[in-house]
Amino acid sequence: QVKQSGRNSFAAFTQELADKKLKHIALEQDLHRAFEKEELSLYYQPQVDLLTGKVVGVEALLRWAHPEKGMIPPSQFVPIAEDTGLIVPLGEWVLNKACREIQTLRKQHKEDYTVAVNVSPRQFDDPNFIRATDLAMRRCGLPPNRLELEITEGLLVNESESVCSKLSVLNRMGVALALDDFGTGYSSLSYVAKYPVSVIKIDRAFMSLDRKENAAIVGAITAIADGLGLEVLAEGVETSEQQRFIAQRGCRLVQGFYYAKPVPFSSLPRVIEKINGSLSSAAV
Ligand code: C2E
Ligand code: MG
Ligand code: MG
Ligand code: MG
Repeated sequence: QVKQSGRNSFAAFTQELADKKLKHIALEQDLHRAFEKEELSLYYQPQVDLLTGKVVGVEALLRWAHPEKGMIPPSQFVPIAEDTGLIVPLGEWVLNKACREIQTLRKQHKEDYTVAVNVSPRQFDDPNFIRATDLAMRRCGLPPNRLELEITEGLLVNESESVCSKLSVLNRMGVALALDDFGTGYSSLSYVAKYPVSVIKIDRAFMSLDRKENAAIVGAITAIADGLGLEVLAEGVETSEQQRFIAQRGCRLVQGFYYAKPVPFSSLPRVIEKINGSLSSAAV
């Protein structure tokens, strides 16, 4: 009896794995095609300074408009692109596109917006990464200190020699580094002090107000960042209560659905204008 059900669940398990693998392969082939067919695009989500109520930058977020499946979120295809190595040319495309589009907007608005770009460890490890980054900025004239590369703690945890030297080259170039999803990984503050990071992005997991400990965690992260002279940005702010919660704990920069969802480049001017017009005094 026991053995029987054991075998059945094992069969079900292997079947599930096989299905998953097949889906993965199909999506992988699709992704190569999508990349060539320009089904991929960048959405942008504003980042707001609560002290002024103004938009100070945007984060570029990949989107895949699949002809049959509709919008596929990056959580479903970025890991595949990482496995196959496609993330290297794809990431380069993202860098070029994000720098170019935001430089266009900076000129149009005469505003000093920053653009934040997510970088995968695999992409960062590529020997051509620094040159590709430099080229992306040069091609459109984006000042290096207006590009912010978002990395995660996973990249820093091995304390690899080459990661370390690349980070300092980027730092000398003037490119800013942000630590994404902070608090969800190793969260070792020694990394923050050791590497030339300029922004800590507190993960949106800490925005749930029904968890008492989040107040202490957000407060502690902000206090340490302050002491180290770093900026803190809260991700995933969805309500005015959450805005008040993080503002009270000294966090000045925010990003979240409360201000705007990620939007296509063409909608960005309207969205920025709306935020700038509505928040300026309410925020503080
Ligand atoms: P991330 O870098 O932490 O980006 C923030 C994610 O949170 C985005 O999801 C964004 O849409 C979502 N978000 C923003 N505000 C809110 C909010 O108030 N509530 C909720 N529930 N969610 C919010 P998205 O666009 O699905 O991206 C997911 C992840 O995919 C990103 O997390 C990033 O790790 C990765 N990703 C996106 N674009 C790229 C890319 O160009 N390259 C690489 N390597 N990874 C990317
Ligand atoms: Mg990010
Ligand atoms: Mg992330
Ligand atoms: Mg994040």
